[in-house]
Amino acid sequence: MTGEAAFATIAPVTIREHFDLMSNRIKYGAVGGALVVVAAILWLYPDITKQQMIVPALVMGAVVGLAVGGIGRLVYRCPKCGAYMTMKGETPIRPDAATFWNRWSACPHCGVSLDEPWSKPDAVGQ
Ligand SMILES: [Zn+2]
Repeated sequence: MTGEAAFATIAPVTIREHFDLMSNRIKYGAVGGALVVVAAILWLYPDITKQQMIVPALVMGAVVGLAVGGIGRLVYRCPKCGAYMTMKGETPIRPDAATFWNRWSACPHCGVSLDEPWSKPDAVGQ
């Protein structure tokens, strides 16, 4: 449980850094989960061919895609107003940035700066 204690002592992150962190966790979680499934399939069916791996790979891709999308809808929310932050239909400040938290400097719904310290949405007064 030292990991948890270490995490608690990390200095407060900005909203932007929080999204970056969560994105990395989702990515590593998805990749890690996919590797575990592949390892399990190879362990259960050692003679499986590459062609036979295509179907489970496609199913896994769809499941991972849905899971990441679903988690993203829960995670990528403005801590102040709760708006889902992918901000489709808005005009970004830096349209070329790869991630929405670098495309924007503030929530377009409530205007909170992404450089503000992150706080859990529940902890912010309404
Ligand atoms: Zn907002």
